[in-house]
Amino acid sequence: MAYDFDLFVIGAGSGGVRAARFAAGFGAKVAVAESRYLGGTCVNVGCVPKKLLVYGAHVADELEQAAGYGWTLEEGHFDWGTLIANKNREIERLNGIYRNLLVNSGVTLLQGHARITGANEVEVQGQRYSAGHILIATGGWPQVPDIPGKELAITSNEAFYLKALPRRVLVVGGGYIAVEFAGIFQGLGAATTLLYRGDMFLRGFDGSVRTHLKEELEKRGMDLQFNADIQRIEQLEDGCLKATLKDGRELVTDCVFYATGRRPMLDNLGLENTGVELDGRGYIRVDEQYQTTAPTILAIGDVIGRVQLTPVALAEGMAVARRLFKPEQYRAVDYQNIPTAVFSQPPIGTVGLTEEQALEAGHKVQVFESRFRAMKLTLTDIQEKTLMKLVVDAETDKVLGCHMVGPEAGEIIQGLGIALKAGATKQQFDETIGVHPTAAEEFVTMRTVTR
Ligand code: FAD
Ligand code: NDP
Repeated sequence: MAYDFDLFVIGAGSGGVRAARFAAGFGAKVAVAESRYLGGTCVNVGCVPKKLLVYGAHVADELEQAAGYGWTLEEGHFDWGTLIANKNREIERLNGIYRNLLVNSGVTLLQGHARITGANEVEVQGQRYSAGHILIATGGWPQVPDIPGKELAITSNEAFYLKALPRRVLVVGGGYIAVEFAGIFQGLGAATTLLYRGDMFLRGFDGSVRTHLKEELEKRGMDLQFNADIQRIEQLEDGCLKATLKDGRELVTDCVFYATGRRPMLDNLGLENTGVELDGRGYIRVDEQYQTTAPTILAIGDVIGRVQLTPVALAEGMAVARRLFKPEQYRAVDYQNIPTAVFSQPPIGTVGLTEEQALEAGHKVQVFESRFRAMKLTLTDIQEKTLMKLVVDAETDKVLGCHMVGPEAGEIIQGLGIALKAGATKQQFDETIGVHPTAAEEFVTMRTVTR
């Protein structure tokens, strides 16, 4: 049977665009439907605008350091409206680039919400299209716990478009987004409190990294409150918000920002018309090749809830395009040793096993850990410390994990990701000549076992 398209992609985000472009490049007839914004979460309300706001917040650090280098500056003034307007302009530019990327690769772009109406059929704006394969790449959406007053809170989606920088912010959550946005708000001048329900934020990250970041954020004056959670939010007569915590305390603020995880975006997707099953956590269940439980339907990216990162969605999109239309080039995505950064202030960079994971996996572990004041700070009064840590298998000498908290951690960790992928040993790290003077050279000069 002849279909309208070989592949119908739902969602023009990181994963969907990659799969569509490459499938078209391999000669397939491809359509993409996008209901909201080209480039998806990452480009519009994720990685990109977030990083621009992080850069904006980081300017405050540079200004603070300037005096030590002989610069006298007039008192600075920050204008939120300018930052947001400039950010919006850049996002619009990127939206245009994504449009061109798709159209120039021969993909048919359909604007509107897509609903699956059958094993090989999708409906957009009242029009039905048939396709040999359907790829669900619909991403995720912020999830706010169901508490009284939750409608008074914002999430990352709204934070990018706030009319003004709030004077006081309560950030709820202890994952990537909470820590990053707490740094943005604090850096730009808002009095920032981070509430996390457990003993220590950033669950799953290396213990030294978590403690180190906590100490550094506190040095910067951030109010970190652990074992704290909001029971309800109310609006006061003066427009301020009152958050009542589960322990009875009341906090008054101008903004409550929730970053308590993301759910898969399955709204009105028509899954009831298919044999697509969800896993125990509510994400789309797929096999190793992103095949759902319905033979003609595949899924990738945040909606499958594996690793919710843009480069992972890209790799999955690529894998699907190859699997369907260039099988001789198919390579499975390697989920081991995925490098990642948290763009907190200071940032975290990490790849491989944490010390805790290495021990749990039965490795005999050697830890090399170094804490130092970055050279750039030596002419300033700033006492921030950088942390670098290597987790090594004592028997094989293989480096199992590299972790860092400090300036440019994301940039530095990318190269170490290659080393770990290549299976580098500690001896090979030691034999690598450092780049001097940098912070990164510390990763090849740590000689003394800490534990
Ligand atoms: P998405 O990029 O979310 O794209 C899904 C698209 O599908 C959306 O455009 C949506 O509108 C569309 N859609 C949904 N349903 C339908 C429908 N029925 N019909 C038509 N279209 C539909 N990752 C990093 O690697 N680094 C970072 O620094 C980083 N920062 C982040 C910061 C924030 C605040 C957030 C929220 C996320 C961040 N991420 C980051 C994660 C990253 O954005 C996601 O992992 C990535 O975007 C997932 O890509 P995706 O293709 O699965 O989905
Ligand atoms: P995360 O899953 O990273 O963190 C969610 C946080 O919210 C956790 O601390 C969790 O606590 C807490 N939480 C969950 N439910 C509740 C609740 N009901 N009440 C109170 N606290 C709760 O989600 P994020 O929203 O921060 O980010 C989503 C994903 O997006 C990330 O996991 C990451 O993959 C991706 N991302 C990547 C970035 C990057 O690469 N730099 C930046 C931003 C996002 P607990 O630990 O106790 O469960």
